[in-house]
Amino acid sequence: MKIPFNKPYLSGKEIENVTSAALWGHISGNGVYTQKCHGFFEEKYGFRKCFLTTSCTDAFEMAVMLMDLQKGDEVIMPSFTFVSTANPFLLTGAKIVFADSMLSHPNIDLDKVEELITEKTRVLVVMHYGGVAVDMDKALELAKKHNLILLEDVAHAIDSFYKEKPLGSFGDFAAFSFHETKNISAGEGGLLAINNKKYIERADIIWEKGTNRAAFSRGEVNKYEWVDIGASFPPSDIIAAVLFAQLESIEDIQRKRVSIWERYYSALKHLEDKGLVKLPRLPEYATNNGHLFYLQTDDQEQRDEMLDFLNNNEVHAVFHFIPLHSSPFYAAKHDGRELANADRFSNTILRLPFFYELPLEVVDIICEQVEKFYFS
Ligand SMILES: *Cc1c(COP(=O)(O)O)cnc(C)c1O
Repeated sequence: MKIPFNKPYLSGKEIENVTSAALWGHISGNGVYTQKCHGFFEEKYGFRKCFLTTSCTDAFEMAVMLMDLQKGDEVIMPSFTFVSTANPFLLTGAKIVFADSMLSHPNIDLDKVEELITEKTRVLVVMHYGGVAVDMDKALELAKKHNLILLEDVAHAIDSFYKEKPLGSFGDFAAFSFHETKNISAGEGGLLAINNKKYIERADIIWEKGTNRAAFSRGEVNKYEWVDIGASFPPSDIIAAVLFAQLESIEDIQRKRVSIWERYYSALKHLEDKGLVKLPRLPEYATNNGHLFYLQTDDQEQRDEMLDFLNNNEVHAVFHFIPLHSSPFYAAKHDGRELANADRFSNTILRLPFFYELPLEVVDIICEQVEKFYFS
């Protein structure tokens, strides 16, 4: 049987929580479990205010609505990321300026960002690839110097840290994903963390379709009305009930995932020592949250051959992002700058199966197949 790339994990408490939510008689948005999830993130990681959303994509949309961007405003973001990072900005008429990755890591190269900043630049987006922190001191310095809104894409980066401070706590905004491929999953789901208090009051309204329903349910106003723009961002409390079961198991989930990551690393290290593959690098300031495991080949041809080899040998391995600047939708809109590192990571990264229930002995079997690719 083929070893899958991903397999959703259930801790066992999900159904019990869903049943409780139903028995409480409130399964629409902003119920008891939604509040519990908000509390979890605010207390454990110190995010100022949290809003569950139906996806990370939606969390981005909500953040962008709060930014009040004008046509022609510019947004700098990495090219090597998922499409959700970019799409919501385009809806406002803003212009996206894609930045390259670092030489040593797929994360955005902040040393090359300053030259992209113009009078019109309003936002800097960083994405912590594989849960590995971007250099946030540098990101904060740039944001401060040029008066930029800082948004962290933390879809990969739950429970990961930069110099001991949680990722998601640096940006004005941070967007999490609970898609089934992420460490903590509710099938689909997301969360917007807001750390800059000037956005919080309005966020309450935009989250609830442009009404003051949240204030109404807290008894602060005596009727609820349409007061601003908005959309339907809160997920059902059934989703929140599933998510909360996962959050309650977060320590176990993270420990297990990191042990899988370390097993891969130590089993493949000898291939790196022989100069055959490159393994992921962790800067000193970053932690490892076991989000994914990838290796890099010398070139695209070898990567594609290895993908075929593994997939023909019962191991479902995959590549990762196609850089957004060269995607069919954006290539003609891009300003033509070459983003060589983003291209190289796209062409040479190969991700190996990674999920909670992957036994360490199976990790060894996968690594033997990788060795066979080179030695048979
Ligand atoms: C998964 C992912 C998203 C989108 O998450 P959804 O919850 O599916 O909307 C955004 N950015 C990155 C980097 C991702 O990997």
